[in-house]
Amino acid sequence: MSAAIINGKEIASAIKIEIAEELKKIKRDTGKEAGLAVILVGDDTASAVYVRNKKKSCLEIGIRSSEYHLPKETSQEAILSLIGSLNNNSEIHGILVQLPLPHHIQSNKIIETIAPDKDVDGFHPVNVGKLVANTASLISCTPLGVITLLDKTEIPIEGKRVVIVGRSNIVGKPAALLFLHRNATITVCHSKTRNLSDYTNKADILVAAIGRPAFIKADMVKKGAVVIDVGINRDEAGLIGDVDFPSVKERASYITPVPGGVGPMTIAMLMKNTLIAFKNTLNKT
Ligand code: NDP
Repeated sequence: MSAAIINGKEIASAIKIEIAEELKKIKRDTGKEAGLAVILVGDDTASAVYVRNKKKSCLEIGIRSSEYHLPKETSQEAILSLIGSLNNNSEIHGILVQLPLPHHIQSNKIIETIAPDKDVDGFHPVNVGKLVANTASLISCTPLGVITLLDKTEIPIEGKRVVIVGRSNIVGKPAALLFLHRNATITVCHSKTRNLSDYTNKADILVAAIGRPAFIKADMVKKGAVVIDVGINRDEAGLIGDVDFPSVKERASYITPVPGGVGPMTIAMLMKNTLIAFKNTLNKT
């Protein structure tokens, strides 16, 4: 039997409608609007597409977005100084620096300079620490999108065996913590894992965040597993995930497509984080 396809696009749209309504109500009650600053350095095509999609979502739901598109040779000092001024700007509630950055810039330094309460990507060490302690309000958007997709599809997490392939700071590691906080049992695999399929084949929920097109094949997946494909790879045919969708969908019970699965959820979670950061400032005034 073929897997049910989890429609991330539809779920993300419904979430964005809820956020838009909440923003409208806040504006009616307080006259205030949420503001998101997006910094893009250089001309990476994929990054430009992501930034465009983020701006489009802001426009749709009523978040003021300001884009700072800087040339690729911009100095680290200049970016730090821009972040400093955005940190002090009370009209800006979220600051996002699109990664990857050009090689001469230290991403860690940039991330650490963003005020933690404006860090809508959830990458700042303060927010990562809070995620470890399970007290975070700003959580990395993609893993949060993965958990939200499962919740909205009413797929139980507690007690499940979750295998995550990929251990990056922005996807694999925070995803592991989120699943752990939801009482799943977690295995995190990476490029040095031996006999990968011994692990993936035991997963009730398999999350692929690898960055290799169609890497997860049907024989690596347990029958009836839930398969979440975070990967976004580009080839001549367009976007392709880390999961070999045609074969794996015949083995899984649920599967996310690429495009239209985790990708739209990442943007919806960015909008949600911006709303949270905005509401946190209202509570302070
Ligand atoms: P990274 O390159 O930072 O991490 C990839 C991870 O995959 C690493 O931990 C690496 O292991 C592991 N890996 C690589 N090769 C293998 C292998 N042969 N076997 C097992 N593990 C392997 O990528 P990201 O986490 O940033 O992104 C992963 C994918 O998700 C990419 O396709 C990216 O485009 C996509 N993505 C999608 C988003 C969305 O919104 N849908 C958002 C963010 C990313 P090791 O640590 O040992 O090197």
